[in-house]
Amino acid sequence: MLKAQNITKKYPSDDEFRGINNITVTVNRGEVICVLGASGSGKSTLLRALAGLEIMDSGLIRLEDGKLASYVPQDYTLWPHLTVLENLILAPNLNLKESKSSILERAKFLLNRFELNDFADNYPSHLSGGQRQRIALLRAVMMKPEVLLLDEITSALDPELTKGVLDLIRALAKDGYAMVIVTHHMSFAMSVADRILFLKNGELIQDEKTATFFTAQTNREIKSFILDIAKRDELIEVFKGTEQFQAYHMGLMKRLPDNSIIYVAGGVGDAWYSLMGEFYKFYEKIRIKRHIVWKIVSYTQSKIDKRLVKDYPKLNQFRNMPRNIQNPANYNVFGDTVITQIFQDEPTIIQIRNQHIADAYLRFFEELWDASK
Ligand code: ADP
Ligand code: MG
Repeated sequence: MLKAQNITKKYPSDDEFRGINNITVTVNRGEVICVLGASGSGKSTLLRALAGLEIMDSGLIRLEDGKLASYVPQDYTLWPHLTVLENLILAPNLNLKESKSSILERAKFLLNRFELNDFADNYPSHLSGGQRQRIALLRAVMMKPEVLLLDEITSALDPELTKGVLDLIRALAKDGYAMVIVTHHMSFAMSVADRILFLKNGELIQDEKTATFFTAQTNREIKSFILDIAKRDELIEVFKGTEQFQAYHMGLMKRLPDNSIIYVAGGVGDAWYSLMGEFYKFYEKIRIKRHIVWKIVSYTQSKIDKRLVKDYPKLNQFRNMPRNIQNPANYNVFGDTVITQIFQDEPTIIQIRNQHIADAYLRFFEELWDASK
């Protein structure tokens, strides 16, 4: 739907490359893409390019006929002399072939839907930062764009305010808007994105499915970027190394309520068992005593898996992943916690504590479980 082909934009610089270099990327209908990369890697330049706000040195940007891409930057300021409602309707009234009454109706509907109707007649200076950014987003939505380009729109907000904005983005994603989002919220990117783009020095060095990007990452540099950023995300904790890996799993087994069901999508394979080592016996003892059941949808069952299923038929429920689902990651859902595991090099657990994300994965898992019947 939106396609950038070999786009290059070079800003003058004496030393390193500044801008974006020969990037080709496609945004499909309804697709959510997150863009990651260090500061200065070209993320904003790419978004501005996709929005048609930058003149490229070379390359082509094509947007399907009659479609619009709306860009929302970090410091999007609402017009201060207009009320919230007036901010929403001004641009559509000037630019869209739509009656004023219908535009007004849509604005009121959006405010109502996202519980912002109490602020309709307020001026922006009377809103919190989080409210302002949600209105800025809705103002972009009012133009009926096909693609929303969101550039770190929560980076200036406190964590409490961030959640409301991220929830709104999530709702818009569900509505089917295609989005390209620059964000530093790793847990958010994990839960909302279909694909991840990773930029380095203006180059697109990875364009990958989200699950693969986070949990089967083979590029060392990107992996350490993920872990560094994850450490700064307060919803996320990272456990690295065999000892932490074992301690984490033992702790988890102890804190779960009796009769819990643990959902695992992607499979626990030989690597998991061998990493648990002799702890595996203790682990299983606690698990069996407390009647904790694994429900696992895995790609293939390893020899060890098969043996374990035979030994503990009531505790492990295995199903095979439907063929059409590509999910190479290990996602485990424990109540409000999702863990993803990375095994290459050294065992790593990324733990995300967030009811919202856990619920999303749980729903995904339940669908997977049904589909695997
Ligand atoms: P990011 O959003 O990933 O932090 P940007 O796309 O903003 O990166 O910037 C990429 C590089 O291009 C940086 O080195 C930045 O200094 C440079 N740059 C961005 N915009 C301009 C501009 N208008 N003029 C000159 N240099 C720019
Ligand atoms: Mg930027």
